Amino acid sequence: MSDLRHLIRTIPDYPKPGIMFRDVTTLMGNAAGFKAAIEAMAAPFQSEKIDAVAGIEARGFILGGAVADRLSCGFIPIRKKGKLPWKTIGQQYTLEYGVDIIEIHADAIKPGERILIVDDLIATGGTAEAAAKLISRTGGLVAGAAFLVDLPDLGGLDLLRSHGVSTHALMAFSGH
Ligand code: AMP
Repeated sequence: MSDLRHLIRTIPDYPKPGIMFRDVTTLMGNAAGFKAAIEAMAAPFQSEKIDAVAGIEARGFILGGAVADRLSCGFIPIRKKGKLPWKTIGQQYTLEYGVDIIEIHADAIKPGERILIVDDLIATGGTAEAAAKLISRTGGLVAGAAFLVDLPDLGGLDLLRSHGVSTHALMAFSGH
């Protein structure tokens, strides 16, 4: 995993001062690195029944689609408000400044289906927690959550675990 860690580009003070932006596009652009990352994200769930991967816009789509292919299951997009074309349900969550809303198609999940959440990075966990709430509200079961990067100082994985979600991240970076 240390090889994968070195494929992440860190951009200080983006998008604002004090943030260390962990840019995963450099990992995605490396054929061997991308393949290894997808295999490692899918591995904990290979022996479980997963009905679909729910990927969070936008980098979660790239990783989630590939993980879904590897797990031979479907893919469900969770998008920013106003982007999905059919009937949606929305979930508000708190950002550092203000609030945002993510949405899922109201009929994307059948009751009892087991859904794996995928995103590139977990920080405070607010986005992934909102995704878990959306899945539960549609009648689905959150089978787990997989990320490339964890920022443990911000407590996101602990937040998901406090909801009983099984979480996996391939690597961690200290700080914000
Ligand atoms: P959070 O809801 O706080 O867990 O934030 C997670 C979301 O924000 C993910 O979709 C990430 O892509 C993005 N994000 C938050 N912090 C960073 C960071 N330092 N570098 C790159 N992306 C980040």
